[in-house]
Amino acid sequence: MNFFTESFRIYGQKWGGSQVAQTTGGTVTYSFAESNFGNQFADFDSFITEEAFQTDVTSAFSAWEDVANVQFKLVSDSSDVDIRIGWANIDGEGGTLGAAIVPSSGPLDRVVIRLDRDENWSTGGNSPSSQTDFVYVTTHEIGHAIGIGHTSITDALMNEFYNSDVSGLQADDIAAAEAIYGASNIEKIDVYRFLNDSVGGHFFTAEVTEKDSVVAASVFQSEGVGFEALSQAATDVELSVPIYRFFNKTLGSHFFTANEEEKSQVMLMEEFGFEGVGFRAFDEDTASTEPIYRFFNTVTGGHFFTADSDEKTAVMNLDGFRFEGIGFYAYLNTDIA
Ligand SMILES: [Zn+2]
Repeated sequence: MNFFTESFRIYGQKWGGSQVAQTTGGTVTYSFAESNFGNQFADFDSFITEEAFQTDVTSAFSAWEDVANVQFKLVSDSSDVDIRIGWANIDGEGGTLGAAIVPSSGPLDRVVIRLDRDENWSTGGNSPSSQTDFVYVTTHEIGHAIGIGHTSITDALMNEFYNSDVSGLQADDIAAAEAIYGASNIEKIDVYRFLNDSVGGHFFTAEVTEKDSVVAASVFQSEGVGFEALSQAATDVELSVPIYRFFNKTLGSHFFTANEEEKSQVMLMEEFGFEGVGFRAFDEDTASTEPIYRFFNTVTGGHFFTADSDEKTAVMNLDGFRFEGIGFYAYLNTDIA
C-alpha cells in the first residue's frame, strides 16, 4: 500500500468567481511546469516533457471536467497559471506518489502538483498491478487541486491509499466534485456526417429529424457520427460558442464556422445560404475537447471537417485538399463500443 501523505484536507476552497458551494469553477488553467518561480508553494525537480505523461494529465483533468461544472484549459507555463504540474524527487519508489500543494486558506490559487519521478509509472490507464497508474494518481492529485480532501470510502479514488482495483472516478468522488461545483452542464449531442457521392461534398447535421430525412434521400451516404458537440441551447456552457452553419447551394454540402468575421463574409456570398446556429462547440481547447480539422476542397470549393487525426493525416496527403487548420473544438464520438 502506498500513501498520499503530503496531500491536504481542504474543505471549503474552490475555483471560480464565487466561493459559494455548487457554483461554477469557471475556466481553470493548467500547465506543465517549465521552470521554478520564486512565489510558488513548492519547487519541481524536473519537468514533464514526455508525451505519454502529458496525455495522461489531460485525461485526468478531462475526467473531472466530465462530471463537474468546471473546465480546464492547457496554457503555456507562467507564474500565474492556476494549476502547475511537474516532477519531484519525493522519496524514491513507493511511499508518497504525489502531492498537491494548495493555499492554506482562501480561494484556490496557484496550486502546485508534484508527481514522484521515481515511481514505476504506467501510462495510458489500466496499469498492471505491478506498476503505478499515472492517470489514477494524477486524477487523485487534481481532486485535491480542485478542493477535495480524502474520503473514508475505501474504493474511491480520493481515498488516501492507492488501490489498484480502482480505475476512474467513483460515485463518492463525483459526489464530492458536484458538491463543490455542481454537476457538469455539458450534454453532448451527436453531429452526423454524410457524403454526397455525386459531388464529393460532406453534409453535417446535429438534428435527428434532419438526419433521418437525409438518410431517406439516397443521394447521401451516411458516415455515422462525425463528432459530438453541444446543442444550440447550451449557451451556459463555459467557453462555448455558436457554430454557424451555411448551406452550399452548388455542392449540397455544409460549411461551419466559429468565426464571427468569417460568418459575415460568407453571408455575402451568393452560393451560401445562412442556416443559423448548427450547434455549439468551442473556439478554445479544454481538457475534454479535441480539434475538428478543416480542409478546403480546391476542386469542388467545398469544406471538409474531421475529428479523426488519422483521417486528417490521410486527407493532408490528397491532392485537391488544402488544410485550413482547426475549425473549432468539440468532442470525439464516444458511442463506439
Ligand atoms: Zn491525497
